[in-house]
Amino acid sequence: MTELARRISADYAGVDELLLVGVLRGCYIFLADLSRRLTIPRRIDFISLASYGQTATSTGAVRLIMDLRTDIAGKHVLIVEDIVDTGFTLDYLMSILVPRRPASLKTCALLRKPDRLRKDVKIDYLGFDIPDVWVVGYGLDYRDMYRALPCIAVVKAGGG
Ligand code: 5GP
Repeated sequence: MTELARRISADYAGVDELLLVGVLRGCYIFLADLSRRLTIPRRIDFISLASYGQTATSTGAVRLIMDLRTDIAGKHVLIVEDIVDTGFTLDYLMSILVPRRPASLKTCALLRKPDRLRKDVKIDYLGFDIPDVWVVGYGLDYRDMYRALPCIAVVKAGGG
């Protein structure tokens, strides 16, 4: 976390302002910690996306639930995701934000599951690669539970 914040602060040193775009809901603790460690001027906005139904991981269909309040044209934007699994969410996000003409658009994710990736999405700032397991805690949920766990834990098959 400190290392990620240091790299981001160094890379954006000199820009007027960085807009951190948090992808709700899983990002909220990561974004809080990351944003407090940055040493550059920054603003924060949120966007909320959802996958379509149970088959979402196979179809990749993603929909917009709540849009940004900020007009990102001409702004330096960093998307902050909790976890990149298939990559469909991040790919969809890029497809709707690029046409809004930000000055720059980069991505940051705390976790990535390389074995599950279906889309060739670039993560400019990555915390950790993890295996194909379901993780909870530190903002991440299992059926909307366990988000407030202070650590990241693996949910075993059967949800236990
Ligand atoms: P993708 O579109 O990359 O397949 O999925 C991204 C989203 O799926 C993440 O933002 C997160 O909401 C959810 N997700 C994927 N893997 C996990 C996981 O292991 N734990 C939790 N809690 N959410 C996950």
